[in-house]
Order: sequence, then structure tokens, then C-alpha cells
Amino acid sequence: MTIQVPEAAGTIIKQLNTHGFEAYVVGGCVRDSLLGREPKDWDITTSAKPEQVKEIFARTVDTGIQHGTVTVLMEHEAYEVTTYRIDGEYVDGRHPASVEFTSNLLEDLKRRDFTINAMAYSDRDGLVDVFGGTGDLQGGIIRCVGNPMDRFHEDALRILRAIRFCAQLGFAIEEDTNKAISVIAPNMEKVSKERIAVELTKLLLSDYPEQMRAVFESGIAPYVSVHFPDAESGLYELEKLKQLPSNKHVRWTGFLRFLDQSEAAVILKELKLDNDTIDRVKTLTDFWRTEISASKPEIRKVMSMINASLFDELLEFQKVFLTGPYLKQLQTVSQYAGEIIRNGDCIRLKDMAITGKELIEAGIKPGPEMGEILETLFAEVLKKPENNTREYLLNYMNSRS
Ligand code: ATP
Ligand code: MG
Repeated sequence: MTIQVPEAAGTIIKQLNTHGFEAYVVGGCVRDSLLGREPKDWDITTSAKPEQVKEIFARTVDTGIQHGTVTVLMEHEAYEVTTYRIDGEYVDGRHPASVEFTSNLLEDLKRRDFTINAMAYSDRDGLVDVFGGTGDLQGGIIRCVGNPMDRFHEDALRILRAIRFCAQLGFAIEEDTNKAISVIAPNMEKVSKERIAVELTKLLLSDYPEQMRAVFESGIAPYVSVHFPDAESGLYELEKLKQLPSNKHVRWTGFLRFLDQSEAAVILKELKLDNDTIDRVKTLTDFWRTEISASKPEIRKVMSMINASLFDELLEFQKVFLTGPYLKQLQTVSQYAGEIIRNGDCIRLKDMAITGKELIEAGIKPGPEMGEILETLFAEVLKKPENNTREYLLNYMNSRS
């Protein structure tokens, strides 16, 4: 079995070998290569200690040196090179509280979560698979390395990782591993919200987002965050999420769509998601049920209320979740929306042909009255974009005062 290792990673491994150290690509990249999926990044594991790695390579960065990780910079790429290690207990954050270096590859593979993630490879030694990872890849099985109760006890995040890998790979969880999940579920409470959010987002963005059901069925939901159980309503027609574009705020909205915007925001804040995502989810949860009539003034009005890119996503969202005659109307709305954009119609207050400054010059006093006038003029422009000229708007204003 051969894996096509990127040239620069191969060079790093050979250099380490030349200096008398062992080195392999390991973990996710081996798993994905064997599955014929494109690895996101190539991690290297080695018997060399961090200081030794730094002596061998000209350009390095101490990314996580206390955990044994040094980033080696090759021409245009960066590779994480981590010393074989035995992990202490995991605490908040991505890394265990203490680590111990070892010169034994098997020890390093043993600390990894699942058999499919515990394989190493080098051109020199071929595939190192001591826990049956290849068999489990073929069988589509997520199985803990070692005793599942112990492994989930060490780090409860592994529970969510197991479900997330099922969602990404279309796999199922092995029976003993599954039993341990329900028992250790309450320990999820101790895991940092940031780590939890990363896994849940990956789950929602995957090919099988309906795996979110497993988060509830296995009893973990109450330990994800205080209000997370409120999202159970999202399990209804969960399969439909895979028809949505695979982006963070759209998929999260898909899952939280039956909550009102403040309830959705509470959960996302508990999970410490970024504000931009939270704002977008709030807008989409607020608007997705609103049918938009097939008239350009109406469409411009909705467009003026939300972020430009969100409008298209709103339509995509409605296509998936709304039903009946509205779907036909949606096609027209979509076509009109395209025309509005191509035509460059004014849909933002800031794109009006007249500014507050000009209103002041025309004798209007700054203050609430001016705000009202601007709003009135903007409403007129949304109705008839051809009226977005300075002369027209000044006349219009004068004729009404
Ligand atoms: P992804 O494709 O999402 O990056 P990955 O398997 O590469 O998946 P990472 O989080 O990048 O996941 O971790 C790299 C490797 O480190 C894993 O393949 C696994 O061997 C090990 N690992 C990561 N997190 C844990 C954990 N919580 N417990 C045990 N081993 C872990
Ligand atoms: Mg990875």
C-alpha cells in the first residue's frame, strides 16, 4: 500500500531519517489518503525531540513546543512535526495538561482517539497499522483505540469527534464505543465550549448532518450547553440540511430554524461562536419563513434590510424548507433579484443620490426630522430606482413639505 505523500513532507521525513530519527505522516492524512479523500493537512510524527527537529531544519516556528510540536517551513508550505508522546489528561483547550515524550511510535499511536486515526506511513516503512485501522476503514467503523470507557474518560470531546467522523465519512460507531458514549456523556460538561463548537460545526457542514440526531439520542445534548437541548426541534426533517450550501451560518440556521432569533443566539453565544456567524444566523432565522412577493419593489425592500450575500442564501434556504405554490414564486423572485443586482438598483441608504449633508444645504435641520425625510426618500427609491437622482429627490421632498 502506498500513499502519495507531498514532496516537501517526504523531504522532511527523509532528513529526519538521515539524522537517525524515525518519522512518519500520521493521523487524519493517512486516514483520508486511504479513503481516497484529499487530506486537509499532513501531520508528521517523529522520534526526534523538538530541539533536535529545530537543529535539523533552517526555518521553524515553535507552535506548540511544550506539547512537542514544531512547525517546519519548507518552500511554500508549513508542516507540523510532533515528537512521539504519551498524553496526560486533557483539560480545556486542544491539548493535554501534560505530555511525556517517548521514542516508541506505538506509544504515540496508542494515545490517538480512533483506530482509523491511529495509523502512520512512510515510504521507507510503509503503513503502520497496529489497531486494525484499515479494517475499520473498510467496514466503516469508528472504534476507540483501547478501552472506550477509559478513552472517553480521558477526554470527553472524543465522544463528539466520534459522531463528527460518522457524519463526515458516513460511518457507524462500534458497539462498545457506543455504549461508553452514553455512560461518559455527562463529562462533556467539562470540555471547553470552543472545542465543542468546532466539532458541531464540522458535523453540520458534513455530508451527513443528520448525525446531529445522535448527539440527542446518546444523551450528550444537555451537557453540550445549558440551552442546547432547546434545539431538539431542529431534528425534524434534519436530512434536509444536506441540501443547503455547506457554509457555517446557513447550516447552523438550518438546525436552529424553529427557534426565534434570540433563542438561537443564546445557544450560539454559549458555544462561543463568532459574532459575524451569530448575526447572520439571527437574520436568517428571522426571515426564512417570510414569503417574498414576486415584485421588484418588495424584493428591493427585503434586500435593503439584510446583508447582500445573505439574500441569496435566504432564497436557497427557502427553496429547501418552504413548500407549496411559493416555490414557483421563488423562481421569479430569484430571477428578479438577479436583475436588480445586474441593473445596479439602489438598495442601500448609502447609495442614494442625495446625502444628509445635501439635505442640510437645502435647509433641513439635522435631527429626527431629517432621518424621517431620508427614510421617505429611500422608500420612494426602493419603489422606483429610476427616481434615484438628486433633482428628483429634492423636488419630491419639496413637493411634500
Ligand atoms: P480533520 O480532518 O478534521 O483535521 P483529524 O483526524 O486530522 O481530522 P485533528 O484534530 O486534526 O483531526 O487531529 C489530528 C490527529 O490527532 C487525529 O487524527 C488523531 O490521531 C489525533 N487526535 C486529535 N484529537 C484527539 C483527541 N481529542 N484525542 C486523541 N487523539 C486525538
Ligand atoms: Mg487534521
